[in-house]
Amino acid sequence: MNACRIGHGFDLHRLEKGLTLVVAGLNLEHDHGCAAHSDGDVVYHALTDAILGALGQDDIGQLFPDNDPKWKGADSRVFVEEAVRRMGKAGYTLGNADITIILQRPKLSPHKAKMKENIAGLLGVGLDRVNLKGKTHEHVDAIGEGRAIACHVVVLICKTTD
Ligand SMILES: [Zn+2]
Repeated sequence: MNACRIGHGFDLHRLEKGLTLVVAGLNLEHDHGCAAHSDGDVVYHALTDAILGALGQDDIGQLFPDNDPKWKGADSRVFVEEAVRRMGKAGYTLGNADITIILQRPKLSPHKAKMKENIAGLLGVGLDRVNLKGKTHEHVDAIGEGRAIACHVVVLICKTTD
């Protein structure tokens, strides 16, 4: 019955002038960046929440409170690493991850291959298990006006046989 479990993660950060924009572990060239306690990587945050959600274990905000100085400016890969550690401990491995990044600017297409590599590396799986899509928000609402970036992640995790 628990052979496979699904999880969904969503994250959004405000974009402000002069801050650094980190997406899936990559520093993107842009005049705006994420206002966040950590490095504000929406992909790593949504991925962490998707895995924790599949495991039925709280969420990123409970594990890594944003009022804890320990996580100030943190490289968000540590959050994914903790989720992956918990997944292994619970006896699961990643089946696949489907990721949608929503951002008006800059264009993600030149960076997608490297982002997928970063994500697959963190998850310890082949590139064929990670799908990454970039979408704009058609110039409407906060994301479309370049004032925010968001990400949805769906993961399937499967019980390891041994
Ligand atoms: Zn976040």
